[in-house]
Amino acid sequence: MSEEVKPESVSLYPASAAATPEQETVCIFGTGDLGRSLGQRLLQSGYRLVYGSRRPHSCGPVPPGAQVMSHEVAAQSASLVFVCVQREHYDFLETLAPQLNGKVLVDVSNNLKKNMYPEANAEYLQKLIPGAHVVKAFNTLSAWALQNGPSDANRQVYLCGNNPEAKQAVAVISTKLGFTVQDRGSLSAARELEDFPLQLFPEWRLPMRLTIGLTAFFFFYLLTRDVIYAYVDEGRDISFRIMMSLANKVFPSVSLILLSLCYLPGVIAGFFQLYRGTKYKRFPDWLDRWMLCRKQLGLIALALASLHVLYTLLIPISFFFILFHFQIKSNKTSPFDTTMAWRTDSYYAIGALGFGLYLLLGISSLPSVSNALSWREFSFIQSKLGYLTLFFCTFHTYLYGWDRFLYISQYKWYTPPGYMLCLVVPSLVLVLRLLLLLPCVDKSLSRIRQGWERTDPENDSKKSLLA
Ligand code: NAP
Repeated sequence: MSEEVKPESVSLYPASAAATPEQETVCIFGTGDLGRSLGQRLLQSGYRLVYGSRRPHSCGPVPPGAQVMSHEVAAQSASLVFVCVQREHYDFLETLAPQLNGKVLVDVSNNLKKNMYPEANAEYLQKLIPGAHVVKAFNTLSAWALQNGPSDANRQVYLCGNNPEAKQAVAVISTKLGFTVQDRGSLSAARELEDFPLQLFPEWRLPMRLTIGLTAFFFFYLLTRDVIYAYVDEGRDISFRIMMSLANKVFPSVSLILLSLCYLPGVIAGFFQLYRGTKYKRFPDWLDRWMLCRKQLGLIALALASLHVLYTLLIPISFFFILFHFQIKSNKTSPFDTTMAWRTDSYYAIGALGFGLYLLLGISSLPSVSNALSWREFSFIQSKLGYLTLFFCTFHTYLYGWDRFLYISQYKWYTPPGYMLCLVVPSLVLVLRLLLLLPCVDKSLSRIRQGWERTDPENDSKKSLLA
């Protein structure tokens, strides 16, 4: 027996595949990429699904078990409608106002760039159909992510809306689909949610700029001192050193400064709290922003330190090194210098230790690892072991310099060597940290961090006068 087909409703699949009547029906407008992926997950989660389409008889493929209808009929068959249509085509929804009144409309739309329209898409939709309850949701998930189901990286559905019941209905569906819900408040938060997918590594911008700036500075500084100086002063062309030995000076220098910049804001914050005598006053914006990008600074520092290790291992097989040793071998041997042996071995050993701890810091900042740590464990690794890493890496650089700062020949064109420059910030951070660790200072800071506040004598006298 053939299935009865209403003129405006087309079931694309056999009746056996269709859902049972007691299943909750959900409607999706639009049979495009997102509509299809979302529909597939809704069906897998046990919902009955109807699509509203401009062309119910000739739309693209839809998931098995779904029905495709005209917008009018589809809207009437469900109390919740996902609008999976681009915002520029929303006009047609105005004519559906009678069918959509009182329904929950889920706006999933995004824009191509920020501030494209005067109001958020969800607010515009609410204006078009004032009788509906618009909820902004699912726009931060891609069609691909929906198709593959929630993964570690993409488990959250952000939503906002003015009607609590409507938000609750969307939250229930999201949870059934396997997502966790983050309520961002009223519909006025819609623009913020619509800007989410347009973000391009916002938290990496400052660390990247800093890295590029420092790398450029050290590169040109060392190029001038090492390569150009040799050419101008001694007529030697050692430009080939740019590729290995110069790069191997730039990477550790920038890495050490970035690592110390991870710890400097914490130290500055400590001094701020000591000076103000309270932890309840906000830090200046620049310090807040700096603190928020410490993880990124640390990861870039780790990447550069890894390059330094790799280059150091490669240098013994570089052309120049082999040639140099070949020439030395054929000429003369120098007497064994125990001090020099100690210096070189300590330099490598401390560097290796520092790098090992560096790796530990990087690993513990991975969400899957940090989630498994208690707050105390995390702060022990990031703070105590972090300072130890900074100490080892700084000491490693001091060992590299050894007594070379005493030789005037090191100050080519009256400039200090690169390793001296890169020691300034980490040494400062370690000294400031040591100051904070002095028992009297540490005691005051700990009390402030536990909520104690130093009373302002001037304020107190004013208060007593008023009383
Ligand atoms: P799409 O593949 O282009 O599909 C949009 C659908 O809208 C079309 O298949 C069509 O369905 C319908 N449509 C097109 N023109 C229309 C018109 N003039 N009037 C009425 N309906 C029209 O787009 P999409 O990728 O699915 O995206 C849909 C919405 O989801 C967009 O607002 C987008 O910003 C948002 N979004 C997409 C993704 C993603 O990964 N794709 C992620 C997050 C959010 P019918 O032919 O069936 O009518």
